[in-house]
Amino acid sequence: MQKIALLYDASQAVLSTFNLDEVLVQILWIVRDYFHINNAAVLLLNPNAQEFFVRTAIGRPQDESDVRIPIGKGLIGTAAREKKPVYAPDVSKDPRFLPIFPDTKSEIAIPLMVRDEVVGVLDIQSEELDAFDSETLDLLTLFSTQASIALENARLYTLEQRRTRQLETINAIARQTTAVLNLDELLGKVCDLVLATFPVDHVVVLLLDDDERLALRAHKGKLTAIVPQGGALPVGTGMGMRCLELGKTVLENDLALVPHYIGSFIETRSEICVPLIFFGEKLGVLMLESANAHNFSPEDVPPLESVADIIAGAIRNAHYFEKAQQLAYIDGLTGIYNRRYFELQIASEIERASRYDGRLAIIMIDIDNFKRLNDEFGHLLGDEVLRQVSEVFGQQLRKADVVCRYGGEEFAILVPQTSGGNALEVAEKLRRMVETYLFPGVPRKVTISAGVAEYPTHGRTRDELVAAADAALYVSKESGRNRVSAASAAVARKTMA
Ligand code: GH3
Ligand code: MG
Ligand code: MG
Repeated sequence: MQKIALLYDASQAVLSTFNLDEVLVQILWIVRDYFHINNAAVLLLNPNAQEFFVRTAIGRPQDESDVRIPIGKGLIGTAAREKKPVYAPDVSKDPRFLPIFPDTKSEIAIPLMVRDEVVGVLDIQSEELDAFDSETLDLLTLFSTQASIALENARLYTLEQRRTRQLETINAIARQTTAVLNLDELLGKVCDLVLATFPVDHVVVLLLDDDERLALRAHKGKLTAIVPQGGALPVGTGMGMRCLELGKTVLENDLALVPHYIGSFIETRSEICVPLIFFGEKLGVLMLESANAHNFSPEDVPPLESVADIIAGAIRNAHYFEKAQQLAYIDGLTGIYNRRYFELQIASEIERASRYDGRLAIIMIDIDNFKRLNDEFGHLLGDEVLRQVSEVFGQQLRKADVVCRYGGEEFAILVPQTSGGNALEVAEKLRRMVETYLFPGVPRKVTISAGVAEYPTHGRTRDELVAAADAALYVSKESGRNRVSAASAAVARKTMA
């Protein structure tokens, strides 16, 4: 009776904390201090794999981190299957015995149960034959019921905490995403938040591209990506497309068992794919990856789906915003950039050129006698000529060059990382192209005049550079049109004065 009273006190100690690790340590300390047992371990059940692993141990002669014991195997698995303690006073005579340590002579395995479910096993081994009497066995069994309650409490508490954190994340994502309109920034943030809250090694956002393929748009974590950022996943592989086609979340807890699986990360063993769908429109997939098999539980799905819904809305917002921004910088008639965009872009190109000691040139172009063309052939044809001239420019220039409609029949071209001399050649090429181009409905030549200025020779600011190029354009007009002139430092200064 005395012993039972002492044990009761001990059990209270186990129940005094909600922290799983502390509970486990307490259990083993009591086993050691009350029962004078030096070799004990608590194994927990991985419910997905239906096998036990050693969670905490004392006095074990070797590392057991790789030990996995299926239900029904060894004394541990037997105790779990039969839901009652199993004692082998002489393991050499017990066919159920599964040797882990070479010197074990007797072993007790006591299931840790919550209601009717086995959640773990308390395993005790000894290098003596028949080391435990029946009273010890009874007391240990009694104690194990208290330990089980403590374990369950800790599990529920951890779950509760995880859920609270997940709710906080959903909240944080909702709050932060509404404020962020830049898509890449937004997706990076989302990955960080999910990574911090869910049990996961890597977080990925894939978005459908124009070719209806899933492209890697953002990812954070410690796994090794196979597909580069922005790259598309191989068609017909992986779970992302399947999830998107089904329009619902797919959870796979052991990818080694999935035939023909080709993932996006080398180490992935478990994966959850949540579709990003906005009002029926499929946008992409939120993917969580883990290097461990059986990493995810179905309980992770609902909070992730809430996150995915918020992300989908935010992606749509960002798309609209990007589009609206683009429209604000596009000229309606020609579809090329407008003057506002030119002014924005020249500022950042000057900044870059000054920082890296780089080059930059601008070309100002004006169509010759355009007023007459309008007068002769009508305004509508004039519009068409403006469109076609813009197209000719776009075809002749590099990707890095920025062609803008500066106003009326004037164009401004930004030619980064190029000297004035080279830009002059570019302008000359454009002049020739337009001169020889057959504009449908215009029975005569259309020509342009151009002026070229170079940073920093002809100006260090936007206004100085534009004024210098304009002055050069004026020289072209004055000297007969259909020609190209370079700015001179003198002209630039004169214009500025
Ligand atoms: P110059 O060789 O000296 O440049 O002569 P120009 O006739 O081209 O120059 P001016 O500045 O006198 O006339 C520009 C004309 O461009 C006047 C205007 O009607 C026409 N224009 C401006 N914007 C548009 C447009 O969007 N569509 C059409 N069709 N014409 C336009
Ligand atoms: Mg003009
Ligand atoms: Mg003109």
